[in-house]
Amino acid sequence: MSTAGTIVTRFAPSPSGHLHVGGARTALFCWAYAKGRGGKFLLRIEDTDQKRSSDAASLGFLKDLKWLGIDWDEGPAFEGCGGGPNGPYFQSERVDTYNRYLTQLVDAGKAYYAFDTAEELERKRAAAKAAGVAYRYDGSESIARPKVEVERLLAEGRPAVIRFRTPVGPITIKDEILGEATLPAGEVDDFVIRKADGFPTYHFAVVIDDELMGVTHVLRAQEHFNNTAKHMVLQDALGFRRPTYGHLPLIFNPDGSKMSKRDKDKVLRKTVTERKLAEPPAGTVGAERWKAWLADKNTQLDYEEANRLATALDVPLPEINVDDFRRSGYLPEVVCNFLALNGWSPGENREKFDNAFLRGAFDLSRVVKTPAKFDRVKLLSFDCDAITSMPRERFVALARAHGEVFHPEFMRKLTPSQFEALAGASHERSKTLDDMFRGNRFLVLGDEAFAYDAKAAEKNLKTGEPSGVAHLRALRPLLAEVKAWEAGALEAAIKPYADANAGGQLGKVAQPLRVAVSGGTVSPPIFDTLAILGRESSLARIDRAVKTFG
Ligand code: GLU
Repeated sequence: MSTAGTIVTRFAPSPSGHLHVGGARTALFCWAYAKGRGGKFLLRIEDTDQKRSSDAASLGFLKDLKWLGIDWDEGPAFEGCGGGPNGPYFQSERVDTYNRYLTQLVDAGKAYYAFDTAEELERKRAAAKAAGVAYRYDGSESIARPKVEVERLLAEGRPAVIRFRTPVGPITIKDEILGEATLPAGEVDDFVIRKADGFPTYHFAVVIDDELMGVTHVLRAQEHFNNTAKHMVLQDALGFRRPTYGHLPLIFNPDGSKMSKRDKDKVLRKTVTERKLAEPPAGTVGAERWKAWLADKNTQLDYEEANRLATALDVPLPEINVDDFRRSGYLPEVVCNFLALNGWSPGENREKFDNAFLRGAFDLSRVVKTPAKFDRVKLLSFDCDAITSMPRERFVALARAHGEVFHPEFMRKLTPSQFEALAGASHERSKTLDDMFRGNRFLVLGDEAFAYDAKAAEKNLKTGEPSGVAHLRALRPLLAEVKAWEAGALEAAIKPYADANAGGQLGKVAQPLRVAVSGGTVSPPIFDTLAILGRESSLARIDRAVKTFG
C-alpha cells in the first residue's frame, strides 16, 4: 500500500500488440500527473484475456515506454524500472488474489454463479430484440439456485461464470475532465466478474488492483467512461476507496477516422494497385498471403509484413504505434511533446516543451473534452526543427543508433568515417532520422540493382551539348587515376575538368555523375557520394550509365 497522501497513477495496458499512440499519451499523462506532484507512477500489465495476451507483446510495451522516457516507479522490472511492494504486476499472476475477493462476494450473496450457455443467452437477447426492448441479463434463476445445486453443477464440471449482483439504482460518475453523468437505474445489469476460464474480467481485476496498489487517480481513455459505473458498484460492495477519475479524449486521424492498423493496409493496397503489381516483391509477403490480402480488403498484413512491403515499395506508412514513430526516425522527445498537445495544452501559446516541463505543468483542468486530431504534418515540422537545430555530433550519434537498429545494411557497408560524411551531409535536410537512409538506398544496393529514374536520365545524361554521357566518358579515365579515393582528391580531379569543359559550372558535370551513380538527382554532395560509394562501385556505375544511355 502506498503512504497516505501520495498520488499514485497507473498505466494498465492490455498487451494485445504494440503500444498505440493513444495508450502512449495516457501513459505520458499518468506519468506527468504523478511525477509532477511527488507521487508514483505504476505500470500494470492487464493480461487476463488469455486469447490476446503474449509475453513478447508485453515486453514491447516496456521498450516503447522506455524509449519515450516514461519511467515507472512500480511495475514489471525492466532496465532499471519497476519492481515494488505491490506486485506481481502482471494480472495473470494475481489470480489467487482475485479468487479471494470473488469468494468473499459470493459468500456475502453479492455475486453468484451462473451456468447459462451461450445459446441460451443468445436466445434471450434475440427475444428482447424481437420485442423491441433493451436486453438486460435476468439473474433471478441463478440467484435462486440452492447452494448444494451450485456445488453439484460445479463438481460436474459445468462451465460457469460469476456475475456481480448489481444493486438497483442510478449511478453517478464524477469525472475531473468530463464532469458528472448519471446512468439511470437498470442501465448496468448483473455483469460477469469471473469468466468460465477462471480468469477475472477486466472490470473485476482493475478494481481489485487499483485498491491494492493504492491507486489514487485513474486517468484513462474516454472509451472507459461508462465502465466506471461498474467499477464504482464493485468498489462499494467490497468496501474500497474511490479513486479520482479522469477520462481522456480519444485521438483520431484528421479526417475523423480512428487511427488504426488498417490505415497501413490502405496505403499499401493503393500503391500496389497503382503500380499494378501482380506478384509480391521478393522477401516481403508469402504468395498465399499476398493473394488473400489482395482478394479481401478486411485481411490485414501483420506488423512485419507491412513493414517489409513498405520498404520494398519505398512508401512511407502512416505511423500508428510508438514503434512506428521510432522506425520512421522521430525523436522520442518530439513524439512526447506532440502527444501531449493532443488533448492538452500548457496555455500562453506555448507549443514546444520537454517531458520535464510537462511534468511541472500538466494539470487535468487543461485537458479537453473533445477528440484530438493527430496532425502528422505538424509532427513532422516539430521533428524537423528539433533535428536541424541540434549539434552535428548529436545528430550523427542518433543517426548511427537509428541505423544500427533499422538499417544494418548501411552500417555494414559504410566505414565509420563514410557514415559520418553521409550523416554530416544529410543533417540540414533531415526531417527525421530515417530520411538519410530512405533517401540514399542506392548506396547499399548492388551496382546493377538500383534503378535509373527515366526523367532524370533523359535530362542529365542524354540531352545537352556535350551530353551528360559525353562528360562521363571523358571523366571516367580521370577518375580511374585518382590515387586516394576520398572527397578532396575527387574534387581535385573533377573541378579542373568542369572548368575546362563546362564553363566552370560544376553542376553540369556533377549532375550526370549523380544520376549515373545514384539513379536520381538527389544525393549528398557529389564528392562525398563518390567517396562513400568507393572506387569500384563508382566506376562500375559510370560504366553502366554510359552503356545504358550512350
Ligand atoms: N487494460 C485496459 C485497456 O488497455 C485499461 C483500462 C484502464 O485503464 O482501466 O484499455
